[in-house]
Amino acid sequence: MGIAAAVSPSTATQNARFKQHFQRKNNHSGNELRFQAICQITDREKLPPKTPSRLEELWAADVFTLNKMQTCLPKDVFKSVKKTIHTGGKLDVSIAGTVAAAMKDWAISKGALYYAHVFYPMTNITAEKHDGFISVQSDGSVLTEFTGKVLVQGEPDGSSFPNGGIRSTFEARGYTAWDVTSPAYVMETDNGVTLCIPTVFISWTGEALDKKTPLLRSNAAMSKAATRLLKLLGHSEVAPVNSSCGAEQEYFLVDAHFAHSRPDLMLTGRTLFGRPAAKGQQFDDHYFGAIPERVQVFMQDVEEKMYRLGIPAKTRHNEVAPGQFELAPFFEAANVASDHQQMTMTILRSMAKKHGFVCLLHEKPFAGINGSGKHVNWSVGNATQGNLLDPGDTPHSNLQFLLFCGAVIRGVHKYGSLLRAVVATASNDHRLGANEAPPAIISVYLGTQLEDVFEQIKKGDVQSSAHAGVMDLGVLTLPEFPKDPGDRNRTSPFAFTGNRFEFRAVGSNQSVSGPLVAMNTILTDSLTWIADALEAELAKGTSLDAATYFVLKEVMNDHSAVVFGGNGYSEAWHKMAVEERGLLNLPTTADALPILKEKSIEELFAKTGVLSATELESRFEVYAEQYIQVIEMEAKLVITMAKTAIYPVAARYLSELACTIAHLKEIGVSFEAEVVEHVASTTKLMMDSVSKLSDAMSKHEFATVEEHMQYCAKTLRPLMDQVREYADTLEDDVADDLWPLPKYQEMLFIK
Ligand code: ADP
Ligand code: MG
Repeated sequence: MGIAAAVSPSTATQNARFKQHFQRKNNHSGNELRFQAICQITDREKLPPKTPSRLEELWAADVFTLNKMQTCLPKDVFKSVKKTIHTGGKLDVSIAGTVAAAMKDWAISKGALYYAHVFYPMTNITAEKHDGFISVQSDGSVLTEFTGKVLVQGEPDGSSFPNGGIRSTFEARGYTAWDVTSPAYVMETDNGVTLCIPTVFISWTGEALDKKTPLLRSNAAMSKAATRLLKLLGHSEVAPVNSSCGAEQEYFLVDAHFAHSRPDLMLTGRTLFGRPAAKGQQFDDHYFGAIPERVQVFMQDVEEKMYRLGIPAKTRHNEVAPGQFELAPFFEAANVASDHQQMTMTILRSMAKKHGFVCLLHEKPFAGINGSGKHVNWSVGNATQGNLLDPGDTPHSNLQFLLFCGAVIRGVHKYGSLLRAVVATASNDHRLGANEAPPAIISVYLGTQLEDVFEQIKKGDVQSSAHAGVMDLGVLTLPEFPKDPGDRNRTSPFAFTGNRFEFRAVGSNQSVSGPLVAMNTILTDSLTWIADALEAELAKGTSLDAATYFVLKEVMNDHSAVVFGGNGYSEAWHKMAVEERGLLNLPTTADALPILKEKSIEELFAKTGVLSATELESRFEVYAEQYIQVIEMEAKLVITMAKTAIYPVAARYLSELACTIAHLKEIGVSFEAEVVEHVASTTKLMMDSVSKLSDAMSKHEFATVEEHMQYCAKTLRPLMDQVREYADTLEDDVADDLWPLPKYQEMLFIK
């Protein structure tokens, strides 16, 4: 039996079951809608056990891999494509026709009738325009056709994608261009099979309208700067340097029956109302606990799909909050990882649907419950020198590592506000700065061993690296366990984790591209600065060792304020960071996004060639507009739901209570009116707040976008919170069988 059949059992059985339930319902409390949902879920037919497929059969089955190209392309054509992929050189356009024909044959053999240029506009979504392979001949017959020109370049009508004023609608031309470094694949959905070609999306004047172009540019810039430094260190052979990314994705699964009865979840991805359940995450019994069976089947299907698409899913587990899970792939080259991350989000959402769930990628779907992030693990390396952020056993004498790590420290200190700006969204604001997620102050965690090494460098006397030794587990049969030289610190937004940095402030719903672009770009700037300084020192005849320590000492003198190993959530740190260390605390998107307009940021992107001033400005405009739109849409829905879902229920409950009191009075029984008074006054307070919010929403004149954003952050959001507070109080007071919205305990615990 297929998945769809399992999700919706035949109407006859469904009706029979309902009947049964409504008989049962007489003995139950609970709103009818919610009760029906629960019945549907608990009576769901289980999916038959899956026979796991062999990884070798699944792996990249739907991808037009280099191996597949090798078997079907002429030798010289294959060599040329391979060279472009591996060394980042220009694609020889004259071979495009041959590649296109081979790609088409392969796609058709997989059942594809359509192809699509897939691109990544400045929203966090994936966009695609489908075209048929069909070509009608003059005699009315049809052929399949896919030319080199069509493979290399497309022209979707991009006028409806946000572009921040780069391109006005009357000159709506936007082009997509094939990104050879990210493999083409076929995507199979219920609507058929489509050949998908990853592309960049640019305006007719050549400006980047997407998230991929800057990522490719930032990688090239970083490679150039890193190569220069590696050569200074004496390496004669230096392969192109690439950044890598492994993004851990957190998400919630809620049964679709519940989700569909919550307009807030459906429209905004988060609950605008709702009281935390009596049982939350305080027991920690969900974290790394056994994965619920239904979720496990879902995960298996997700992973199978990922494997087919060549996405290396690696770990899965329950997360901190009930109903929350995590999926992490094995890391890949940043550009490919970024495309794969987008695909992963799409797969999670669509597979959830098939399994009767809704997958929530929002950063804070449930107030009072842990939110979701996307930890972006990032490093840089190449084929000749390996991972450049690998400290080895004796980091204090590993000059190459120290320089690259020092470059990151300098970059994060100098451009911490940029790192904050690239994770600034209306939804991520619920996490950052709250007491669970990384704080809105960007600092670097190095771990005890490295912190000590860089402290020695700052003092100008480098002796040794602290060694961790082995752990004695006190059990003879267990092998010796090497201790990690650096411990873990979960409260840092930017942490060194053994051989990479982990940027933890990224939102679960975000594209990883922006954060990767920022990290690559600030590293480029620092590597260039370091190479200049090193060159100047070497020119004086200083030895390489001495020159390196000298430059690093300078880096640490100026930038060690960003290194912090303590508790990032503590009040003391917030005070110290801002007052003593001069770090910025940017709690909201309204505070953080305007950073993109600062001169220093404009210069950083211009000199590295990653974004022009126009491109940067357009990003500010698009993201600011998105921020405002999200908050205004939520505010509208808060008003509607308070007026049409919560107020009527409170009124009904009041009338019920009032009747009861009146009747009791008639027969001489006294009954306290306290509850009535409490519900009545809370309802009134809620409606007063609704009026205030409505009034606030009628303001439309703002001098600047910045002012408008601040208004959303400082006026609208607090008023929305106020409405919610009264509504959530009512949820606790009003009879359960009247409450119209599925409650937290139902959504989080019933699977
Ligand atoms: P944790 O939950 O402890 O932070 P996980 O094992 O869940 O760690 O995830 C670690 C992620 O880091 C994985 O996606 C892994 O592939 C990735 N990773 C490991 N090495 C690198 C590297 N050199 N560059 C980028 N990512 C890396
Ligand atoms: Mg992590």
